[in-house]
Amino acid sequence: MSADPNCIFCRIIEKKIPATIVYEDDLVLAFKDLNPQAPVHLLIVPQKHIADIHGITASDRDLIGHLFFVAKTIASQSGLDKGGYRMVINNGIDAGQTVFHIHLHLLSGRNFSWPPG
Ligand code: AMP
Ligand code: ZN
Repeated sequence: MSADPNCIFCRIIEKKIPATIVYEDDLVLAFKDLNPQAPVHLLIVPQKHIADIHGITASDRDLIGHLFFVAKTIASQSGLDKGGYRMVINNGIDAGQTVFHIHLHLLSGRNFSWPPG
């Protein structure tokens, strides 16, 4: 599904490199972050390669809504909604985006400060 051969998350989606997958359907994949920043640190990604927020088109609106719906379902099924969690999208170099396949970070299991660093 419109994979970029140079994209590490597309390679995970195609099962060409390993990841600890916690949820998968025909539109999105959720897996554990390789370098977790909290006791729970998952990445939820669309199966379709979209580089960043500005790569979202009108035809992706249901997909992006589904991405958030899956993230909140994982959060509630894992009991993360009790104490709370943080969902983050880093968009662009200045925001710390390092993988240019749009992804939603789901972080939980510790306290988070505000504003973020
Ligand atoms: P960002 O800096 O917002 O683009 O986030 C990219 C995230 O992807 C970082 O938290 C990395 O630890 C994570 N990451 C990079 N490569 C992998 C991989 N192969 N498997 C799982 N997570 C990864
Ligand atoms: Zn990709």
